[in-house]
Amino acid sequence: MAQSVPHVVVVGAGFAGLEVVKGLKRAPARVTLVDQHNHHTFQPLLYQVAGAQLDAGEVAHQVRAVLRRQANARFLQGTVTAVDWTRKTVRVADPTDPDAAHDLAFDELVVAPGAIYADFGVPGVREHAHFLKSLSEAVNLRSELLRRFETAAAAEARGEAPDPGTLTFAIIGGGPTGVEMAGALAELAHGVLPGDYPDLDLARVRIVLLEMGDALLPPFAPGSQRHARRVLERRGVEVRTGTAVAEVRRDAVVLAGGEVLPAHTTIWAAGVEAHPLAKALGIETTRGGRLVVEDDLTLPGTDGGWAAGDVAATRDDGGRLHPQVAPVAIQHGQHVARAIRAKYAGRPTPAFQYVDKGMMAIIGRNAGVAELSRRLGGLHLRGFVGWLGWLFIHLVYLPGHRNRLGAFVTWAYAYLTRDRHARLITAMEPSPSERTSRTGRLVTQAISAPRSGPEGGPADGPDGARPGGTSRAA
Ligand SMILES: Cc1cc2nc3c(=O)[nH]c(=O)nc-3n(C[C@H](O)[C@H](O)[C@H](O)COP(=O)(O)OP(=O)(O)OC[C@H]3O[C@@H](n4cnc5c(N)ncnc54)[C@H](O)[C@@H]3O)c2cc1C
Repeated sequence: MAQSVPHVVVVGAGFAGLEVVKGLKRAPARVTLVDQHNHHTFQPLLYQVAGAQLDAGEVAHQVRAVLRRQANARFLQGTVTAVDWTRKTVRVADPTDPDAAHDLAFDELVVAPGAIYADFGVPGVREHAHFLKSLSEAVNLRSELLRRFETAAAAEARGEAPDPGTLTFAIIGGGPTGVEMAGALAELAHGVLPGDYPDLDLARVRIVLLEMGDALLPPFAPGSQRHARRVLERRGVEVRTGTAVAEVRRDAVVLAGGEVLPAHTTIWAAGVEAHPLAKALGIETTRGGRLVVEDDLTLPGTDGGWAAGDVAATRDDGGRLHPQVAPVAIQHGQHVARAIRAKYAGRPTPAFQYVDKGMMAIIGRNAGVAELSRRLGGLHLRGFVGWLGWLFIHLVYLPGHRNRLGAFVTWAYAYLTRDRHARLITAMEPSPSERTSRTGRLVTQAISAPRSGPEGGPADGPDGARPGGTSRAA
């Protein structure tokens, strides 16, 4: 490959990073995509892995397969731990041995490592709650959920009195992830597992969805919020809005009022913050850790730095931060590729403009909500039509023909039989960087600061990271 063309390094093979790479397919550039995993994870369907609806392989796609037909792109598995803006290099740690690292030189660097869950300082969350961000977390959560039923069955077989916490599942955060997880778990517990555990009284199962705000699905219209609540309650989920969590323990959740809810399994779905790599770059960030970018998505004060996806703080015309959702990340990625092409063609780089198409969430079988943006007619769809719309959009965006076909067949089979074929208790090792970012330890650093970073403290205004969940775009 010719060395005279610019070298574009993209950190993160998520929604944003993949779009940058694809958008540079015909550009006179060498592209290196670096990710800690060898796969892209389709996070919107992780809850289906946790709920035993889909196999892990159906929501992930190997990056090398995506790049196979792109002659100017290469993949490197590794964790980016530092950026040197003066030498224009990134430090890439070996995927299995964090002590083995090398420096990779770049002309353009696109930072797109996504987000991590924010614990908002609630004690015990990092130690005892389950998250739903990576494939390993989804597989481990599925195992944890199924293991609780085995534990209850074993206690029953021994003739012991049931422990109320064993089959109580607390889900914290009533945004789309919390709602989707609660709906999936209710279907699993009440629709599928009674056949597997004929001797277990599954009326004991408690699924408690805790939301600090007044309503579920905060960014949606009140009609959609009420619909979500009605459907979940009809399916056996206890919805408690206006309920803040003070502490998560190994076997209980302590509510702000002092009530102790015995629950051996707690799922934290209460909001995200930008990946710690963003804060370590020496560039101004928002309260939620997102990088403050120029309007063309370049990083201020850097030579060749860009940000895209959940780590980039772009705003709408009213000054509100765009939500940390896949469509924003995709459009960021497409924009950065366009802007890099323009830069090397000697044209001015354009300003980023987000085209909002709306948002959607699924509640469970035959029930979903979809709200199209005003630009698309402002239509609100609920129930079966909302559910169908959600399935269609997710099938279209799921990367890989094999994955789309697999998910379609699995969904059709599950719809007809109510079966959940992935009811396996297995475990997956999280990657070293996942482990460290979960404990909140800083795993990244800027070796040298950008040339002339802007002054000032944290950015104003609310960030996308808030207790209660993130909003979703269609
Ligand atoms: C459970 C869940 C459900 C969701 N549901 C929806 C939904 O229904 N609709 C919707 O629009 N959005 C949804 N979202 C949000 C959406 O997934 C994100 O907005 C989107 O993934 C952001 O894209 P990204 O490219 O910025 O980051 P990601 O897609 O998170 O990709 C980041 C990539 O960077 C890699 N990486 C991280 N750190 C490093 C490092 N140091 N070195 C190398 N690689 C690194 C990661 O491995 C990952 O592959 C959901 C999110 C979650 C967690």
